[in-house]
Amino acid sequence: MLTGIAHCSGCGGRLYFAVRKGYPYGDYVCRATARSEVCTASAAMRSDWLEEYAVHRYREATATDAAVSREQLLESGVRVTVAKGRCGGDTTRLRGPDTSRLTFTLGEGLDAAN
Ligand SMILES: [Zn+2]
Repeated sequence: MLTGIAHCSGCGGRLYFAVRKGYPYGDYVCRATARSEVCTASAAMRSDWLEEYAVHRYREATATDAAVSREQLLESGVRVTVAKGRCGGDTTRLRGPDTSRLTFTLGEGLDAAN
């Protein structure tokens, strides 16, 4: 859902969805190595947490309770940047995302409207 919206703070590249076998959610991960690039701070986050965060922040920013689609996020120029975790990326034992690692921005058009 967030491909093209979620970005890695280490290299600025997109995060890509990776399936977790046996889990209802996956992870968004930095794919710098797949592009033959080196990312010194490759980011990754559980997909359900990141999607929940993006939708929550979008609703806050636009003051809506309606369902939020991927198309809406893209049209609004939403960008979520994920920074590398402090503990080697072991986030599975946490109950939610470390939002200090997340940055949410809207496109120019909506910023002006606020
Ligand atoms: Zn990266």
